[in-house]
This record gives sequence, C-alpha cells and structure tokens, in this order.
Amino acid sequence: MAFRGVDYFCVDSLLSEEELMVRQTARRFAEERVLPLIRDCYRDARFPSELIPEMGELGFLGANLHGYGCAGMSNVEYGLVMQELERADSGVRSFVSVQGALVMYPIHAFGSGEQKSRWLPRLQSGRAVGCFGLTEPDFGSNPAGMRSTARRDGDAWVLNGEKTWITNGGMADVAMVWARAEEGILGFLVERGTPGYSVSDIHGKWSMRASVTSSLSFADCRVSESARLPGAKGLKAPLSCLSQARYGIGWGAVGAAMDCYETARQYSIARKQFEGRPIASHQLVQEKLAWMITEITKAQLLALHAGRLKDQGKLEPAQVSMLKRNNVAMALDCARLSRDLLGANGITDEYPVMRHLCNLEPALPAPKGFECFFTP
Ligand SMILES: Cc1cc2nc3c(=O)[nH]c(=O)nc-3n(C[C@H](O)[C@H](O)[C@H](O)COP(=O)(O)OP(=O)(O)OC[C@H]3O[C@@H](n4cnc5c(N)ncnc54)[C@H](O)[C@@H]3O)c2cc1C
Repeated sequence: MAFRGVDYFCVDSLLSEEELMVRQTARRFAEERVLPLIRDCYRDARFPSELIPEMGELGFLGANLHGYGCAGMSNVEYGLVMQELERADSGVRSFVSVQGALVMYPIHAFGSGEQKSRWLPRLQSGRAVGCFGLTEPDFGSNPAGMRSTARRDGDAWVLNGEKTWITNGGMADVAMVWARAEEGILGFLVERGTPGYSVSDIHGKWSMRASVTSSLSFADCRVSESARLPGAKGLKAPLSCLSQARYGIGWGAVGAAMDCYETARQYSIARKQFEGRPIASHQLVQEKLAWMITEITKAQLLALHAGRLKDQGKLEPAQVSMLKRNNVAMALDCARLSRDLLGANGITDEYPVMRHLCNLEPALPAPKGFECFFTP
C-alpha cells in the first residue's frame, strides 16, 4: 500500500503545488527504488550505490544550490526531499547530505571558478562522489583541536594527518579535507589516487549500516595550490557546512519518525490481544500513538518554518541547532515507542523500526551543536 503521509494538522495546506510535487517525486523514489532494497542493504552493510545516478537525475544532489546543473530547489523543497529519503533510510539521506551540504556547498561557497566548473556538474549528476573530512581520531566534538596539517612547499601544499568517521569516504572520488596551516584552518580538494592519500572502511557498525563510513590518511600527500578552496579561511568555513548538513538532518528525522509512527499505528490496529481486541483499543497504547503524532506535528511545523526562514536568508545557525536537536530527539523517542508497540516483532528487520532506532542513535547533537545553540 502506498504511503499516504502523516499530516494530522493539515501542514500540507501550507505547501505550494510545486513543493508537493517535489515531495511526491522523492516519496515515489523512496517507495519504489529504496524500500525494496534497503533491508538487504542493511543486513549486508552495503550502500545502494546503484541509486546514485538516478538521485542525480532527479536533482537530489546539491538540490538547493543554483547553477552548474544543480536543481536550484527552495530550502523547503530540499527539506522535503531529505524527509522522504530518511523515511526510507538515514544512510541514503546521509549520502545526499554529505554530497550536497558538505562537499558541493563548500565548493559553491568558497571554491574557485575552476573548482566549481570541474566538480559541481560531476557531483550534481552523481558521476563523482565526495566526502568531508573534518573529524579526527582525537578531535570529534572539538574540531578546533585538529592535528592534521597543511604545509606550504613552493606552489604546492603537503598534507599530513588522519580523519575518521568519514561518510562516503571509501567510494569518494574527491575528499573535502580540512587541515591546519600557518594561515589557520584551510580546506583542500584531494582526489582519489593522489600519492600519500589512503582510505580504509570502518566495519562492525550497528548503526548506519547502509552507509559507507571510512578513515582517511594523509602521509606527505602533495596537492597543488589549485586544490585549496580560496574562500575558506578558519574554522567558520567547515562549521558553516555543518550548519547546512544539520538543516537536512532536522528534516530527515521527521521522515524516520513518520515511518515509525505509521508502522506502529498499522500494527496496533492489526495486532489483537486479550479477547481478540486490537491493542490500539487500549488507552495506554493510544496515549503512545497520540504522543508520537503530536511530537511529529510540532517537528513538521518547526522544520517548515526553518525552511521558510532559510529561503528568506534569515535562518541562524543556532536555530538550525535547535531544529536538529529537537527533531532527532523526537524521532528517537518515536522509534523507541514504536519498537515497544510492536512487541517482540519490533526487534526484527521485518519492520523498519529497529533500523531507524539504530540509525538515529548517533545523530543526537554533540557539544559543538550546543555551543551553536547557546551562542547565537
Ligand atoms: C555514522 C557517522 C558518520 C559520520 N560522518 C562524518 C563525516 O562525514 N565527516 C566528519 O568529519 N565526521 C563525521 N562523523 C563524526 C561526527 O561528527 C563525530 O562523531 C562527532 O563530532 C562526535 O565526535 P566523537 O565521536 O569523537 O565524540 P567525542 O567528541 O569523543 O564525544 C564523546 C562524548 O563526550 C561528549 N562530550 C564531548 N565534549 C563534551 C563537552 N565539552 N561537554 C559535554 N560533553 C562532551 C559528547 O557529547 C559525547 O557524548 C560521523 C560520525 C558517525 C557516527
């Protein structure tokens, strides 16, 4: 049965025809292309890379950027795409977030004309994949402490250091890498195959199994001056990328919560206990469903208002942090309640709930989110 959406408070009436059409396109893609594959991908710890060209064709990659073949969607449309993709799986949403918000966005915002023309059309179409290397083994919440270095040598740069927990790393054609130089933190585009640059994938994850996560290593890795993003100086540049990514996660979490709610609602109506009555007829079960739909509705309104503000150029990083913090926590609580309502069945991969629960677990904000939150 096709997904009918979760809209208790007529939030759809606040969306334009065009926004509804974009959502329908993403919903159909999630339904017809991602959902049939995702259970096996999660079991096999495999990202469905065969879907990348189609996501490019549909305009999902760098969707809210303009020019260079990008779809130029509004931020609300982009958010709706993220919501629908994460309803299918956080790993697919995460691929799109990294490609668009963490690789294409910094090239678009801080890159040279040559970097933009070389990379944006390829990344937009999915002919190239990107990753974003900020986190290091000893510096996660506190990227200001990073140890990776960039040393000038004539008209080249020499990179040394380690990055870890890098989404898309193992399949990336280009890595957006942040390193400390005498001039401050700088950003470099390092291509796969550059001598001194190596990648190894992280295995054994119980979360984000349908996503590639890797460690990147730089040992006297030499790149030319043309690989440096000329407009990116200081930690503000990578933090601005994180703000773009967090905006997408704030919407994506609503999608995961919608799937958990809808699964629990249908299950509670079908499942009979005590004299053949559906468990949904018990008030304690109804209270859980009512809590979920209330919180989802509030999160939908928060995401939509954030999108409208972003489209007016008025959305502050602190507000993005609140959006992500609230919506991820809400989705995680919905996933836990949904798992509870499904009883023992809730722990199997016959239902999507435990997968969402595991995926959402590491998405709760780390302190750098809170710092933003309290320092408008
Ligand atoms: C699936 C996945 C994908 C990722 N993808 C990327 C990517 O593409 N690129 C990238 O650069 N990074 C990526 N990351 C890394 C992510 O950004 C870091 O995991 C995050 O910043 C937290 O860092 P950490 O894991 O080192 O935890 P730590 O910083 O070691 O934190 C551990 C715990 O201590 C708490 N803590 C730390 N400092 C404080 C403090 N001052 N006050 C109170 N509590 C504190 C934290 O909240 C946390 O609970 C990814 C991570 C995961 C799990």
